[in-house]
Amino acid sequence: MSNSFHPPVRSLMGPGPSDVNPRVLEALSRPTIGHLDPEFIRLMDEIKGLLQYAFKTRNELTLPISAPGSAGMEAVFVNLLERGDKAIVCSNGAFGGRMQENVERAGCTAVMVHDDWGKAIDLEKVETALKQHPDAKLLAFVHAETSTGVRSDAQALAALARQYDCLAVVDAVTSLGGVELDVDGWGIDAIYSGSQKCLSCIPGLSPVSFSPKAVEVIKTRKTKVQSWFLDMNLVMGYWGQSSKRSYHHTAPINPLYALHEALLCLHEEGLDNAWARHTLHHTAFVAGLEAMGLSVLVAQESRLPQLNAVCVPQGVDEALLRSTLLAQYDLEIGAGLGTLAGKIWRVGLMGYASSQKNVLHCLTALESALVAQKAEVQTARAVSAALSVYG
Ligand SMILES: *Cc1c(COP(=O)(O)O)cnc(C)c1O
Repeated sequence: MSNSFHPPVRSLMGPGPSDVNPRVLEALSRPTIGHLDPEFIRLMDEIKGLLQYAFKTRNELTLPISAPGSAGMEAVFVNLLERGDKAIVCSNGAFGGRMQENVERAGCTAVMVHDDWGKAIDLEKVETALKQHPDAKLLAFVHAETSTGVRSDAQALAALARQYDCLAVVDAVTSLGGVELDVDGWGIDAIYSGSQKCLSCIPGLSPVSFSPKAVEVIKTRKTKVQSWFLDMNLVMGYWGQSSKRSYHHTAPINPLYALHEALLCLHEEGLDNAWARHTLHHTAFVAGLEAMGLSVLVAQESRLPQLNAVCVPQGVDEALLRSTLLAQYDLEIGAGLGTLAGKIWRVGLMGYASSQKNVLHCLTALESALVAQKAEVQTARAVSAALSVYG
């Protein structure tokens, strides 16, 4: 027999999950009720309103998919695309490649627009592809590339999609709650996010939102969505406005209590304040890194405040450093992926984890672990450089 599982208390400063707000964990432990209980239906309506606030949208079809961000990604593609359709997919990191997989597995053609990992999506290349493929149904791109720490210009990309009569599909898994995002203002047609990044909720839920134009596409499909579970026509029967909600699947009741609490925290803070907080702690963190002699991969204008790609100095064993941080400081940071494996660390400052305490903790731990590896770093400067940003 094994005993109850008691996880260590970590600081989660990787690419997600991020530190969960204690308020969210407390909400999770409240008593479970039925998924058609009127009190639960009331909660669902509140979640929808809070998600509309977070996404800045009035889209009626706004809800959390009962599965992680990857399911939100899949839901968007399988609902909007029908076999034989063409989609333009931007790829400047790991998640663009996953979009391509989704498009191709749906029996569709993915026209790829590639940019280097670490660079923002090039608008000119996208416009060229849109001109060359007037039959494309949608343009899909990642707003915040978690694999590289790059922010692309979602507003300009959505405007291009509109100009060429394509649906604008956005991966906002890491952007929601961390950087400016305006679904209605920017004309985004379909968007998905995740609960465990800047919302600082537990992993396993994927907020999505579809514009009236996208809903029209879904409702007038010639063929059935190949995924029964993710078919929005069916999910709408449970999450829709009608007072007669019908059973589709058992909603994850307690995780939805948690999501409600996380969205409430965001609403109480205010979107603008949350975005400004992410920028502040990122600025302090980078000041500390640079004072230590470290550098950041991404050009300043396209850096994500919530995901910092830190270059691994010459001669440093990056995996050993991460295990030192975990063992000695209970601090998790992420490794590089793909072409950036071994070259960067990914330090998340997402949601509840975006705090002065975490910035100073991480700088201190990094410095001591680098010194332990005899790396050439400037010592005893990072923390004061970060503190000078806080003033
Ligand atoms: C984390 C992430 C996903 C996948 O989300 P899961 O919850 O891990 O399935 C998709 N896109 C981006 C940009 C992400 O950062």
